[in-house]
Formats: sequence, C-alpha cells, structure tokens
Amino acid sequence: MKVVGVDIGRTKIAAGCVSGGGALLASSRIPALSAEGFEMSFAQVLRAIESHLSADVAGIGVCAPGPLDPRRGVILNPPGWPGWRDIPLGDLLREKFGLPVVIDNDANAAGLAEFRFGAGRGFRSVLYITLSTGIGAGIILDGAIYHGRTGLAGEVGHVSVDYRSQVICGCGSRGCIEALCSGAAIAAGYEFDELTRRLGVWMGGLVSVLDPEIVIVGGGLTNLDGLLDRLRATIPAYTVNPYASTLPVEAAALGGEVGVYGAAAIALDALGRV
Ligand SMILES: [Zn+2]
Repeated sequence: MKVVGVDIGRTKIAAGCVSGGGALLASSRIPALSAEGFEMSFAQVLRAIESHLSADVAGIGVCAPGPLDPRRGVILNPPGWPGWRDIPLGDLLREKFGLPVVIDNDANAAGLAEFRFGAGRGFRSVLYITLSTGIGAGIILDGAIYHGRTGLAGEVGHVSVDYRSQVICGCGSRGCIEALCSGAAIAAGYEFDELTRRLGVWMGGLVSVLDPEIVIVGGGLTNLDGLLDRLRATIPAYTVNPYASTLPVEAAALGGEVGVYGAAAIALDALGRV
C-alpha cells in the first residue's frame, strides 16, 4: 500500500509516492503556473498526481498554502493564486481519481511529517515551526494535528509581539512575529541578536501555552549560524514553564521533501495506516 502526496507551492508543485512505512519511493517537480489562473494551475495539479498513480495507491494527500478548510477540503483564497477562491479541491480530486483525498495546509502537514517520519518520532505532542519567508506552525497534540474550531489554528506567525510597532504585517495587524522576524525582515537588514531574542521570547510564549514535548524548527532560516542554540538559551527565560530548560529544540529532519512527506502523512493518517 502506498499514497500519493502533492505539495502545491507558490512556484512549484512537488509530488511523490510514499509507502505506508514512510519511504519516499519516487518524487517529481513541475511548475505551479499559479499566476496563469485556475484552469492552468489545476491541470498541473492533475498532471503531478497522475504521474505517480498506480493500482496500489490507496489515497491522495494534498498540502497547499492557506487559508484553506481542511475539514471540507476547500481552498479559500490563497494570496497570489488568481481564480483559486472557494475551490472544493478535495471533491474535485475525489471525482477525478476515485480515491480518498485529504487536504491540509502546508505547515500542518509538515508538522505531521516531522512527527511521523522526522525529528518528532517517538513524541506525542510536537510544536513544529517553520521560519522562512513567512512563519507558520503545525501543532501536533496527542498524536493529531490541532485544527481548532474553524480549521485555522496554528497561525503563529500572526501573533503580535509589539502592538506599538511601526511594522504593519501583510495580515493588516501590527508587530506580528512574521513581519518582524521572517526572511523578508532579515533581507531588510534586521540585526541577528534582536531577531533571535524576539523569536525566543515569542517561542517561550508558545511553550507556556502548549507545553510540547519537542519544538522542531524548519524552514530556510534554520541555516542561520547559531540560531537553535540561541533559541534554546532564550526560551526558558520567557516561559513560565519551569521545565523548559530540558525541552528539546531541534532542527527539522526531512529537508526539501518535507512537503511531499507531509501530504503523504495526512493521507496515511486518514487511512489509519501509520
Ligand atoms: Zn500578521
């Protein structure tokens, strides 16, 4: 038994075939054509899936940029995707391929992949944080993705750490950690000590709320020299949790294929195969 995982990104669609045990059997990448409108980019999604289909594929997992509704499998209105508004992607793919289809946002799926196959193996509650051009999280509580009431939980990038900040986030709010500490902020010349302190203060708050068994940090910024050590040093000072000094803070393990692993992980979970 295996599943097809599809990671719909802003520029590329990555797809792959993953075994029930989490082995990546094949993978591919094609352009997303996201600016070309719905018909063109949806055709690319179909192409990506078809290239990995075979008789023993039991389901399809899809991860995509939010906002989306994971319960109904509906893509709501991702920025930069003209024509992709209230698209019932789950139903469309089920009708086309006659297989179970599961959809979730890319950070949730990546968190589940690290929990199942990566740095979070052996833990039950995992806080996965991705630090790149944006900041997101996958919150795994007691072995399952925490979706919240409306399916939109985990938007940690839009937690404000400075309501007086002059920096207005893309979401319209003021002082969001994503606006202050994402890749775009670094490109604008943000100073490293201040960056890691802000991230550590913010993560300390998340640890106070969630008390995870491990924090896993993925995304391009994990390559910054000394980032994890600085976070490990800062988090305990900004959480009320007295055990935070023993909390593992580790780098993500799945690298560039985390999206495909994540899409496969949500499908395998839904099928009850892991
Ligand atoms: Zn924001």
